[in-house]
Amino acid sequence: MFLDEVLVPEDAVLGGVGQGWSVAMATAGSERGLTLRSPGRFLHTAERLLALARSRPDGPGPLRERVAQCWIEAQAYQLFTLAQVTELVEGRPVGAESSLNKLFWSELDIRLHQTALDLLGPEAETEGPWSKGFQFALSGPVYAGTNEIQRTVVAERLLGLPRGTAAMRFAVAEEGAALAAAASGVLARVAGPELIREGWPGGRPELVDAVWRRLAAVGATAALVPERAGGLGLDENALTPLLTELGRYGLPVPAAETVAVGAPLLAAAGSPWLEPVLTGEIMLTVSQNLGGEALVPFAARAGLLVLRTGDQLRLYTRDEVAPEPVASVDGSRALARVTAPPGAGLLLAQGPAALATLRRRGVLGTAALLLGLCERMLELTVGYVKERRQFGAPVGSFQAVKHALADALLALRFAGPAVLAAGWAQSAGEPDAALRTSMAKVLASDAARLVARTAIQCHGAIGCTTEYELHLYAKRAWALAAAWGGPDHHRELVAGELGLKSAGGRT
Ligand SMILES: Cc1cc2nc3c(=O)[nH]c(=O)nc-3n(C[C@H](O)[C@H](O)[C@H](O)COP(=O)(O)OP(=O)(O)OC[C@H]3O[C@@H](n4cnc5c(N)ncnc54)[C@H](O)[C@@H]3O)c2cc1C
Repeated sequence: MFLDEVLVPEDAVLGGVGQGWSVAMATAGSERGLTLRSPGRFLHTAERLLALARSRPDGPGPLRERVAQCWIEAQAYQLFTLAQVTELVEGRPVGAESSLNKLFWSELDIRLHQTALDLLGPEAETEGPWSKGFQFALSGPVYAGTNEIQRTVVAERLLGLPRGTAAMRFAVAEEGAALAAAASGVLARVAGPELIREGWPGGRPELVDAVWRRLAAVGATAALVPERAGGLGLDENALTPLLTELGRYGLPVPAAETVAVGAPLLAAAGSPWLEPVLTGEIMLTVSQNLGGEALVPFAARAGLLVLRTGDQLRLYTRDEVAPEPVASVDGSRALARVTAPPGAGLLLAQGPAALATLRRRGVLGTAALLLGLCERMLELTVGYVKERRQFGAPVGSFQAVKHALADALLALRFAGPAVLAAGWAQSAGEPDAALRTSMAKVLASDAARLVARTAIQCHGAIGCTTEYELHLYAKRAWALAAAWGGPDHHRELVAGELGLKSAGGRT
């Protein structure tokens, strides 16, 4: 910000008159480097990450190398800073080198927190020091001068590069496309950020439920339910276009859980609960998370819960389990800890093969939701950077912003066909359905994380606020990226399917 015509008392003038820019650059340099982020902060975070990795019952597993890399980078930052202090002590100014500090610590902070969240697995969704730290870390590449600007500073002032100015199918089957278009028609009229906020604590979830019933009325909940049971009789190919649309509008409902897994299971069991679930009168959620207490999305709102005990999936009514609400990074997910009483409930499915088939559908549905979220975040960001002006031009005209968005689109465009291919492999009962499904989840989760991060970065500070709608989609993306197995879990499954040996010698 530049202020003109401001009177400053003589004894308050810093530096010489007319030398304001040098003073501003010196203070900005100090802020970006030595004073804003001391190495101790990152060394401490790296130690916390190590402690977390060591505390995991199975150790850090495939994340071992990333944990070690984070530790190496925290040490490297300390050494770099010590070298800079030496320069200062010897009377040489640090100057544009402080932009290197800024780039390094802000990116390292995100990697430290992302690695911790991946170590936490499903717990990553709960609100805690790591998820909060991650959210704050995302503002690092924005404040104290955005990283795009810092890279320009490095390129022009340290490398001496010339100053410049600003200058990518599988076909969806007809029925699947028609259902997706019908759902989209409903959502385009009534859904949006305000409706997502109604799902957050303090909101009016009954408004969300009303839209869910309207979607149910066009057949969304019944997509995979056989026609003889009152459904549309479609197969997994229909999941991708439908759930991509639901993802785009961010309606806070257990869409993948109901459409891909729960409703077809109720139909197969001939359960009387099928009808109220298909009409949207009763909310149904599903979790295959094992453990004494599983973290289950929408458990705080659902009337029916399909939960895993041992190698069984059982249906419980809300009264049979006692959901304990847990604060989630995405407050609209109505996350809760639930203990499934083994003897109670109604048996819906059992055995590794049945559970694996259902799990693959849940993974596929979640991957498709992520695609829709990516599309929405990209649209929002592209629209914003065309309007927002800095340095006399739309920020979208700057190459750094364009390149970041091009990379985000690339990640999304590569994830899309992989998700469609997973749906086709599942519907055709292909032997590589598991491999293709895990691959789709890896690509969709990684794309969603990249798109969320890029969207926040390209928005600048407004992308870091909760008043603006972007955070609603980014937080959903982080929750869904970790749900039904995060990308590292699925990469590990792909490695297993490919016959790669793990560190412990197992394949
Ligand atoms: C947590 C936090 C704390 C903050 N604290 C302070 C503070 O204490 N004091 C203070 O003064 N400010 C503070 N800020 C503001 C901060 O300095 C600005 O947000 C930052 O400089 C970016 O400006 P902007 O938000 O207007 O984004 P914009 O300038 O609108 O940028 C939007 C996007 O366009 C890109 N862009 C813009 N111009 C170019 C270009 N020429 N080339 C390539 N890309 C470009 C940006 O990198 C960004 O990705 C804080 C911000 C945050 C998030």
